[in-house]
Amino acid sequence: METELNVYLSEVTDDGLELSGTLDDSIYGFEDEFLKPFAGLRYELGVLHVGSELLVRGKIEQDFEAACSRCGEDFDFTVKIPDFTASFAVDEKTEFVELTTELRECILLTLPTYPVCREDCPGIEKKEEKAPDSRWDALDDLKKG
Ligand SMILES: [Zn+2]
Repeated sequence: METELNVYLSEVTDDGLELSGTLDDSIYGFEDEFLKPFAGLRYELGVLHVGSELLVRGKIEQDFEAACSRCGEDFDFTVKIPDFTASFAVDEKTEFVELTTELRECILLTLPTYPVCREDCPGIEKKEEKAPDSRWDALDDLKKG
């Protein structure tokens, strides 16, 4: 997998440039016990060079493995950004524009502060099942009899 994404202006034609691929998880520089990116940052981007600006637009996705902030169970979720946009000032001296940081920051900003495995996760306490009360067993036997 790629560890950086650079757009060389020489490759951006008048029709623009289409980019797609996957960036390695190492771009995040962290592997938290409670939050871990995996499978890479997937991107599908269109690039346009307009005057002194380089415009980038498209969709990006990243899978994460996290520990639920309520029940502590591990679960996976995907951050999807269908409308990523960024613009960069460029001039005749600009050789390339580095996109990695922008993509990474965009994903990180979208991350939930307290990830939960599901919206209605009851948390630890309610999840513990009560031990069956054996006093009722006798009653069941009666009914069967
Ligand atoms: Zn949970």
